[in-house]
Amino acid sequence: MSKTVKVGTVTIGGGNPVSVQSMTNTKTVDTQSTLEQIERLTGAGCEIVRVSVPDNESAVALKSITLESPLPVVADIHFDYRLAIESIRNGAAKVRINPGNFGQEWKIVETVKVAKEYNVPIRVGANSGSIDQNFSHLCRVTALAESALAQVRLLEKAGFEDIIISVKASSVSETVEATRYVSEKVDYPLHLGVTEAGFGLDSIVKSSIGIGALLLSGIGDTIRVSISGDPIQEVEVAFSILKALNLRPGPDIISCPTCARTEINVEKLAREVKQWLKGIDDDITVAIMGCVVNGLGEGKEADIGIAGTRTGGVIFMKGRIVEQTARGELEERFKYWLDKALCKGEDRLQKN
Ligand code: SF4
Repeated sequence: MSKTVKVGTVTIGGGNPVSVQSMTNTKTVDTQSTLEQIERLTGAGCEIVRVSVPDNESAVALKSITLESPLPVVADIHFDYRLAIESIRNGAAKVRINPGNFGQEWKIVETVKVAKEYNVPIRVGANSGSIDQNFSHLCRVTALAESALAQVRLLEKAGFEDIIISVKASSVSETVEATRYVSEKVDYPLHLGVTEAGFGLDSIVKSSIGIGALLLSGIGDTIRVSISGDPIQEVEVAFSILKALNLRPGPDIISCPTCARTEINVEKLAREVKQWLKGIDDDITVAIMGCVVNGLGEGKEADIGIAGTRTGGVIFMKGRIVEQTARGELEERFKYWLDKALCKGEDRLQKN
């Protein structure tokens, strides 16, 4: 099991729930837009937010951002140790740096001194674009992993061990193999992600496979899905990955792929059910099946389900039919029974 590291109010590693991170894409100096985006990320469930600190103005802006942010804020710094120190003093809950980029050892020592004083952890790492040339004789995966470990050693040498590590590539297999390599060498918590994964469906698939493969083998303590565009979708995908791996509670909607036997609009109903269940984190399995021929059998393990018939649908709970409903009342009756399955008498779905 990995060590634990505290990032503000969130504990990472040591068997704690895998946390979800994202990153703002506003200009950090535009504190209002940045805070608005952080609010939206918070609403989507994000637990830690990273903000780029490319210059001193951004490090200064960080002060009001960290004061007002409902989430712990991570400062992302590339080369200048002074920005790291300023960010820590301005309330960053973690800094993402590569101390090897600072140039001189005393700059690492100075940064570490302030990080210790403020109890702020440091994430180090490597991605495919920042492989240390000292490892260029090794294969890409090993070079990537060793590049990250070299950064770890620099911090350890400076007497600092409050470390989180990431090893990211835009190749899924390189990300997985290099992260596995690091996990076998050290027990610091690991931040997972496939970097520059692209946009849309392809990025979701890459992240799901890369992050999912590692989490399935028990590796990883915090994740960030990388998608070009609105960061809110990163959080939604991250939670879907965790949910699919049973690492977070929440409803599981299973629905059939539909075929010529389909009697109801499965996709539309599944979308509605997802909306009804927004904000509910009960572990309930809901089946939406197009027909009774296969639907009843395949959905029988579900807590509640519906299967289409020629005249409407049958609603079932744990495989037992509780109501046959006419087409015009299908949604209303299913919502009624779903509420009953959830709840214990209250109308938990009414607001959704
Ligand atoms: S449950 Fe029925 S409608 Fe859905 S895919 Fe199976 S056979 Fe087709």
